[in-house]
Amino acid sequence: MSSSLSIYIQFNFIGKYECQACGYIYDESVGNEKKGIAPGTPFNEIEKFRCPQCGANKKYFVADVETLSGENHRMHSSIILSINAL
Ligand SMILES: [Zn+2]
Repeated sequence: MSSSLSIYIQFNFIGKYECQACGYIYDESVGNEKKGIAPGTPFNEIEKFRCPQCGANKKYFVADVETLSGENHRMHSSIILSINAL
């Protein structure tokens, strides 16, 4: 007997992550020069990321996502990490 798990994800990551503490937005296409993060670096690949503005831990960041209908939403990064782990 086999089991399968299907997950339908109806949104797109747009590569932007917002600090909930101060509102800073990390944009993957831009990176962060001050922190030595090259443009195009995926947020989840940055170890020990801290907000360049307020120093908040990575867990304070939420992803900006776009649904298929074009609305913008925010998603907590712990959810993204568990999606990546699947
Ligand atoms: Zn911040």
